[in-house]
Amino acid sequence: MESFEYQAGTKVLFGKGQIEHLPEEIGKFGRKVLLCYGGGSIKRNGIYQQIYDLLKDCEIYELAGIAPNPRITSVKEGIALCKEHGIDVVLAVGGGSVIDCAKVVAAGVYYDGDPWKMVSENIQTENALPLVSVLTLAATGSEYDDGAVITNLDTNEKLGYGNPLTMPKVSILDPTYTYTVPAKQTAAGSIDIMSHLLEQYFGPDNTYLADQMLAGAIKTVIRYAPVAVKEPDNAQARGELMWTSSLACNGILSQGCAYGGWCCHAIEHELSAFYDVTHGVGLAIITPRWMRHILNEKSVGRFAQYGRDVCGITGLDDQETAEKAIDETEKFFASLGVPMTLRELGIGEEHFDEMAEHAGRGRLANAYVPLLKEDVKAILHDCL
Ligand code: NAP
Ligand code: FE
Repeated sequence: MESFEYQAGTKVLFGKGQIEHLPEEIGKFGRKVLLCYGGGSIKRNGIYQQIYDLLKDCEIYELAGIAPNPRITSVKEGIALCKEHGIDVVLAVGGGSVIDCAKVVAAGVYYDGDPWKMVSENIQTENALPLVSVLTLAATGSEYDDGAVITNLDTNEKLGYGNPLTMPKVSILDPTYTYTVPAKQTAAGSIDIMSHLLEQYFGPDNTYLADQMLAGAIKTVIRYAPVAVKEPDNAQARGELMWTSSLACNGILSQGCAYGGWCCHAIEHELSAFYDVTHGVGLAIITPRWMRHILNEKSVGRFAQYGRDVCGITGLDDQETAEKAIDETEKFFASLGVPMTLRELGIGEEHFDEMAEHAGRGRLANAYVPLLKEDVKAILHDCL
């Protein structure tokens, strides 16, 4: 088992009505608030007004219009607002895009150079503004981790930024806030949760405990994602998905395991950087093709274990179990109603060379089953 250091730095307030605690939690950090949100869903479902009512004693400034696949331009806008108004606390209300953008704003206030340099070189800051998140979409786990993913459309780059100081101080997780998430986004979010789990499940040296926890979490997504897609206000399904999203991405389920490479995310970030695709949709297309590509003598046992423990396949040999498990994973994604080929998104092979060159910035050569540029290109071709 690998050595590790782990600190859960976020206070989680889970359940219906937890927003009532927002004033006291914000009040611990000050009264000048930068409210970060997206394209307006929080205005339509009433959360925006609720927040203004609760924070009536605060001075609120707004960073609005944060796009899915959040842009570095929004980050720069947010940093400027914080500096201009002497913001005490950043409040992110939305999905992963809003929370990710808010994290980089919180750190960027303490970085004097170009924020894109901070992201692309993963420069650590000495401080960050405190961040409070109110989650409205179960997907990324950004509400309970220290990572962010930012897109630069000028350079066709979508890059991860990790800084422990940006871990939310408090995250309010009210599953009823996700009742208004449309079916397509519920599906994409659930696939993102499942991908985070699969990226950890397919690792070189997992612990027994990690395998059991990851399998249980994957089965939770398989059980409840279809329910949430069909019945948007199913409290059980929304709650199960929300808490699974938070646990899936902050490493707690795979502490002590060797790093597997997170290959599907690396390839998906290239797709989003060039074509601005919905993250979970890109992952649905890539994941089964990646699985087929890395199925070999070395990995077949792990795929067979996945087939038996997660998919419940019995009575077949390892190779047959592995192949069936991959087919079932693909069928599960398709059953949620997302596109399953790049052609359906209008994407051809024009940029495959650049995407394969950049994917993972060289890290994929050390993945569970190593991927070289030609492997990434072959996977992308299979995705067409
Ligand atoms: P998102 O991009 O935050 O939101 C997607 C869409 O859902 C937006 O149009 C948003 O509308 C809408 N939406 C959110 N909550 C809603 C609600 N309650 N009702 C109705 N519509 C709602 O989606 P996401 O999947 O959470 O985030 C994706 C981003 O996170 C990607 O850039 C991805 O690469 C990144 N990511 C981060 C991590 C991490 O660890 N930090 C991990 C994986 C992925 P509004 O714009 O109006 O809010
Ligand atoms: Fe993700």
